[in-house]
Amino acid sequence: MKPNSRVVQLASVDLQPRELANIKAVLDSGWLTQGSVTRQFEALFAERHGASHGIATTSCTSSLHLILDCLGIKPGDEVIVPSFSWIATANVVVQTGAIPVLVDVDQNSYAISPDAVEQAMSAKTKAVIAVHPFGFCADIDRIQEVIGSNIPIIEDAACAAGSQYKGKSAGTLGVAAAFSFHPRKSITTGEGGIILTDNQAIAQMAKMKRNHGAEISAEDRHGSVAPYLLPDFPVLGYNYRMTDIQAALGLSQLERFESLLSGRRQIAERYLNALSGRDELSFQPVDGHSWQSFVTVLDPSSKLSRNGVMEYLYERCISTRPGYHAIHMLSYYRDRFGYKPKDCPVAERLCEQSIALPLHTLLSESDVDYVLENFVEALKQ
Ligand SMILES: *Cc1c(COP(=O)(O)O)cnc(C)c1O
Repeated sequence: MKPNSRVVQLASVDLQPRELANIKAVLDSGWLTQGSVTRQFEALFAERHGASHGIATTSCTSSLHLILDCLGIKPGDEVIVPSFSWIATANVVVQTGAIPVLVDVDQNSYAISPDAVEQAMSAKTKAVIAVHPFGFCADIDRIQEVIGSNIPIIEDAACAAGSQYKGKSAGTLGVAAAFSFHPRKSITTGEGGIILTDNQAIAQMAKMKRNHGAEISAEDRHGSVAPYLLPDFPVLGYNYRMTDIQAALGLSQLERFESLLSGRRQIAERYLNALSGRDELSFQPVDGHSWQSFVTVLDPSSKLSRNGVMEYLYERCISTRPGYHAIHMLSYYRDRFGYKPKDCPVAERLCEQSIALPLHTLLSESDVDYVLENFVEALKQ
């Protein structure tokens, strides 16, 4: 580390005093778990994305698991999943007992390839999970076309709060969608997630299953004429409830959502303006992108070492990361399902050649200049 040099984080949490005041109000209220603040947060997030129902949970991972469970995905079923994603997208399928069929992604958008989905379809295919990588939406129309209208698409919209596809919001493109509020995402609740859906039956089932399978929520029971009576539990459930403490944070983040999104977009645009002419780099398309991450991919023919570039930046206190992993190359998936190198060559190349540059709303203009200056320098090494 150079003395007196600045430190540029990959991501950081943009909090304001208002957020802390809202959290304190929940703590003072005495009702800490899922209650009225969670309900407000769900309603506002669903409304912003044009979805009929929002069901807040503990994470995007638990949201995805809940959606698969509500759809009745079971052992013996197959669910098609892009290999280039966070491991959770595949893990949730394994958790239902079904088989995750990992397929390759499109080399321009980094999202699941409709052609690869078509080839992976079988009589056992029960759903497709489409990831919107880094906030750019997968080509949902083409995927639905190749799988037919009877197979549901689930959106892994972990990174896609505020993203758009052909004039529609992420979260309204498939049968149901799961978003993440981990601190690496565009808005945060510490940990947390939400399901968006227009499907009344899925919404109702997801609400029961996130609360141990209870027919009514604790909040509704406490407000009822006989709050001392326990509810019935007609289905098997989990504890996937968001707390009102988290929801208070989420609600205040949501109030600033448009400015947080435009702050991210401005930084992404500055990166693109400075870098898009370079032959050795490629980028995702920008239409509808919400810029959870800014990812660039080094052309393998450039002979640049991706890890060398990352190390060069690390030594100058600039934090970067690879985009995602290629899930089929992770040892659990190789050992259990027999995946081999070259099974999803694009995912492998993106995993090896991608770099996420710092992107968050606490970056100053001079931080962005500092990143650009050093990144361009690193490309000369
Ligand atoms: C972050 C992420 C997840 C996991 O989200 P959690 O809220 O941490 O469970 C899942 N899928 C993708 C594509 C992600 O980027």
